[in-house]
Amino acid sequence: MAGYVRFREDLCKGCELCVYVCPPRIIYLDRDYTNRKGYHPVRIDEMEKCTGCAHCARMCPDSVITVERE
Ligand code: SF4
Ligand code: SF4
Repeated sequence: MAGYVRFREDLCKGCELCVYVCPPRIIYLDRDYTNRKGYHPVRIDEMEKCTGCAHCARMCPDSVITVERE
């Protein structure tokens, strides 16, 4: 199964909880960008490796992440 993940990047506080629960480790903190809240948001590298497991969305305390499964 493949997944597609979206982040509402202006709500992300860069806590990295989602980074550590992603099995293929494709989520990373973008240290080159600062969002409206003043945090570095997370992004996805290699979306094609996303399995759609939704561990990241369940872990996020601020409901920043939406996962679609294909
Ligand atoms: S849905 Fe699963 S594989 Fe995809 S980014 Fe989230 S934790 Fe990683
Ligand atoms: S768990 Fe949520 S708030 Fe924390 S870094 Fe991930 S998307 Fe951002």
